[in-house]
Amino acid sequence: MQTDIAIIGGGLSGLALARHLARNLAREGCDFQLFEARSRFGGRIHSLQHDGAAFDLGPAWFWPGQHRIAALAEALGLERFDQYAKGAVSYESETGEVFRNMGFASMQGSWRLKRGMGSLIKGLAEQLPSERLHLDHEVQAITQPGEIRFRSGQRWQARKIILALPPRLAAEISFTPALSREQLRALQNIPTWMGGHAKFVALYKDAFWREAGLSGDAMSRSGPLAEIHDASAPGALSGQKPEPASPAALFGFVGTSAVARQGQGQEAKLTRAALAQLSRIFGPQAAHPIKTVLQDWAQDRHTATPRDLIPPNQHPAYGLPVALHSIWGGRLSLCVSEVAPEMGGYLEGALAAAEQTAADMKKELI
Ligand SMILES: Cc1cc2nc3c(=O)[nH]c(=O)nc-3n(C[C@H](O)[C@H](O)[C@H](O)COP(=O)(O)OP(=O)(O)OC[C@H]3O[C@@H](n4cnc5c(N)ncnc54)[C@H](O)[C@@H]3O)c2cc1C
Repeated sequence: MQTDIAIIGGGLSGLALARHLARNLAREGCDFQLFEARSRFGGRIHSLQHDGAAFDLGPAWFWPGQHRIAALAEALGLERFDQYAKGAVSYESETGEVFRNMGFASMQGSWRLKRGMGSLIKGLAEQLPSERLHLDHEVQAITQPGEIRFRSGQRWQARKIILALPPRLAAEISFTPALSREQLRALQNIPTWMGGHAKFVALYKDAFWREAGLSGDAMSRSGPLAEIHDASAPGALSGQKPEPASPAALFGFVGTSAVARQGQGQEAKLTRAALAQLSRIFGPQAAHPIKTVLQDWAQDRHTATPRDLIPPNQHPAYGLPVALHSIWGGRLSLCVSEVAPEMGGYLEGALAAAEQTAADMKKELI
């Protein structure tokens, strides 16, 4: 089977690129196909659905000044709302002592999508011609000039191949001829943003912490959760029985290292410890969630590699390294948040990467 452009990866950057191509190039008779390894689209964007509400297990926020994502949400008819930030911020010391009124909520001013970030992916995928989108298509090998081999053994030919996946995962694809040492090293040296992290989400009948004057924000030196936020659906009300569609939730970024999280029994152990911690900080009701989920991105082979087990301790300076400016004379290129011209690592970066790639391709192909 054959196409002009193959997009490998159906996260936000791959789908946004497909949207640009469908709008700008398809009418010129230029065909594209998108191949995604998992049985779902979205990549690092993934929302848990519960009682008609969505809870983000990957990215949850976007911020003022991120115009692309704001515009995309609006174009898809998705409503946003403010991250809940009223009430006292808590701090838990190394010894588990809890202090109140510790500064301001760190995510105050950020926005969430009412139906979760997953609604962005659903909206994008629904707008694209379904015959061009292929789930369960994990790329294993690419041979010059453009043969793509999938895990299933299936093969496609493409004139141009765009890798819309984390650079470290791109480095694991078998390329013939092999990429140069500089190109391979450049791919391996780009950390997958948040790839080593895990999120713990606990759903509750109501937002009891709000009733107690707490924002849901907490920092902890005791753990296992290092940073906690209110993750309630927009309709969750303090002290009231919520509407069926608006359960309340708290989530925390897990502070336990990705290496220590591996192994049998670790998830249950971490869940017990996280609920005990939430009870220390927010009160005994926190010990009785409706549901909990631990999403460990470091153990997800379509997001992270062993190199991502130790995450960078600050936001890396992302962008496309010089060694990757022209691979195979431009027939192979990258389009993922980590190589974006701006806001690399963020959702906005994924959209910036897609915009840049679409503009480059328009110049090349028309
Ligand atoms: C816990 C967490 C919290 C975050 N919080 C925020 C936030 O609040 N705000 C924000 O702006 N950003 C946040 N981010 C970052 C944000 O998720 C990413 O910037 C964005 O989702 C990247 O999208 P992408 O399409 O570029 O990459 P990805 O989402 O990684 O998509 C890559 C796709 O390629 C697929 N793939 C991989 N290998 C193959 C293969 N061999 N063959 C075919 N397909 C393959 C994957 O399955 C995936 O679907 C967070 C990330 C995480 C993990």
